[in-house]
Amino acid sequence: MTDDAQRWKAKYLENLEQQEKLEQRWEARLDLLRRGLVRSSLAAEGADKAVDQCMRELREIIRGEQMDAGLAALIPRLEKAVLESEQRRQQRSAQNVAGITGLTEQLLALELPREVRKALKQFARRIDERASQSRELPALLAELSSLQHKVLEVLGSDQVARPGLLQRLFGGRDEAAAGQAPTEAPSATPPAATAEPLPVAGEQAQVAPPSPPPAPVTPAPAPEVVAAQPAAAALPQVDAIEGPAPFKPTATLDSLPLDARFFTGSDDPAYALPESAEPGYSAVAVHVAQSLLGLLDELELPARHQPQGEALRERLQGGLNWYELVPLLDDLAVLVLAVTDSGQREFAGYLKQLNERLAAFLGTLSEAHEGYSESIESARSFNRELREQVGGLQASVQGAADLDDLKHVLETRLDGLLSTVAEHQRQREGREADVAERLQALVQRVAEMEQEAQVFRDHLEEQRQKALIDPLTGLPNRAGWSERLELEVARWQRYGGELLLAVLDVDHFKRINDGYGHLAGDKVLKIIASELGKRLRKTDFIARFGGEEFVLLVPTTPLAGGQQLMETLRLAIEACPFHFRGERVTITLSGGITAFAAGESAEQVFDRADQALYRAKGEGRNRILVV
Ligand code: GH3
Ligand code: MG
Ligand code: MG
Repeated sequence: MTDDAQRWKAKYLENLEQQEKLEQRWEARLDLLRRGLVRSSLAAEGADKAVDQCMRELREIIRGEQMDAGLAALIPRLEKAVLESEQRRQQRSAQNVAGITGLTEQLLALELPREVRKALKQFARRIDERASQSRELPALLAELSSLQHKVLEVLGSDQVARPGLLQRLFGGRDEAAAGQAPTEAPSATPPAATAEPLPVAGEQAQVAPPSPPPAPVTPAPAPEVVAAQPAAAALPQVDAIEGPAPFKPTATLDSLPLDARFFTGSDDPAYALPESAEPGYSAVAVHVAQSLLGLLDELELPARHQPQGEALRERLQGGLNWYELVPLLDDLAVLVLAVTDSGQREFAGYLKQLNERLAAFLGTLSEAHEGYSESIESARSFNRELREQVGGLQASVQGAADLDDLKHVLETRLDGLLSTVAEHQRQREGREADVAERLQALVQRVAEMEQEAQVFRDHLEEQRQKALIDPLTGLPNRAGWSERLELEVARWQRYGGELLLAVLDVDHFKRINDGYGHLAGDKVLKIIASELGKRLRKTDFIARFGGEEFVLLVPTTPLAGGQQLMETLRLAIEACPFHFRGERVTITLSGGITAFAAGESAEQVFDRADQALYRAKGEGRNRILVV
């Protein structure tokens, strides 16, 4: 063989080798695309059964051999599933609109002053537009709650100014006229409290002259909010700060639990209880509870939010009083936010987007695949052409008659060979650039999708955390408690050691609400939560179990140590210098504490601590019992 022929053969072999490398690169890129699809489909899972099923199939198809045909069959089904998921969301949104509209109409049916009616009407006009966007729902509920508050305030002040109106409006309910919610036991408050209701800043102008101050009232038998201990011993902080002050025999709120002997009234404003009147809430309580129950029914709760939904339902069914309304609306708003906002709307939007991207992705993938097949085909034809040309060259060389003839034949053949190689090279470069560009676009799309999925996951986690917190006290709520309890019990079962569970309940809290108003009650709860929280270790856990009840988990502490801690907490609350209009208000706690024993369930341990609390109440309150 001549040198030229050798050179061409070497070039041919080199081309074959490059061709193999090209094929390997294609395989690697296909693998990358498959992985991108699998990860994106995993990120989209979790909110809709039908879509999840499609995503699972998508992954199987990608892992299998028949990818093109499988994807072509699946994508129309995926589109349909996403569309249906979106339609369901729209139905739910329509039900939300109906629920909120119903509640607003019930409020509008009451006789209201012009400005309140105007605000309600303005609100009503925008319900359709706002309630259909689930992101707006929490704000909408909060606004409705505030409007309802205004309505109730109006009804409450009407009560004082024009007692006959309430009678006309609500068929003359005596307890409403006396300013008490029907769900509360009226017998706890002595008649003096109803005869002289708590003065309110706004009310004073209407019903009582600002000066002289109200005449002293003969003290009536006080309910036992104050612990039956000597005041000097019970109030070390107040003593230390104030020193003994003259006894004030003329308490304005003679029926309320006051401990005024060592209290001058100039105490820490942080512990001052705000003044407020109880509005005639009882008049609309049933409607409100029914509407909220309706709203809850229409919310489609995923399994993990169902316990919260059930807890809210129980609270509503147990009769809703004024004090519970605002925290309940807050909890409902948090639930709606957690479920509707992140779980449905954003997810549907995200799925839609994902679907569009998957379709584009699929298009580019099949183009890339076609490009790959084309390139294999063109390599084969290049191979064929080269073989033919080299074969032709050999034949021409053998058939050449003289040197000139040979030279001419060789030149012609070499020109042919060179142009074949150049043409192949040009085609291959064109295809490679094209494919590299498409791959780059695909890689970028996968990266964007991953980033979106991450934002989506972060948002879900943020909403989940919000749903675990009680908005009034900032402590974990019941759902937060359940989550942590499960974790601590699992840890205790695994590593052993001690785990204590305690239940604390504010004594006679209803009287605080009845005597000073729910705002004061709320402030007391906030302060108690913070006082308790700051006396715990990092590893201890406290939650607001509901109402005025708190629960604690104290790991790696013997029962005696736990009892000591509970005593510290009890004494700290008792010593808090709460005051109302210059009068000392002592607030106390009762509690039960117990240790987990081998083989026990969390429910058993909780019941034991709860029974201890119950006994502590029976034995006179303001005490901790250990079992
Ligand atoms: P006991 O000493 O037996 O525990 O009596 P109590 O009055 O504390 O107990 P009861 O369960 O009869 O009353 C608890 C009250 O707490 C009733 C409810 O209206 C009120 N309450 C529950 N949650 C809140 C809240 O968030 N804020 C306010 N202000 N009051 C609340
Ligand atoms: Mg209580
Ligand atoms: Mg209680």
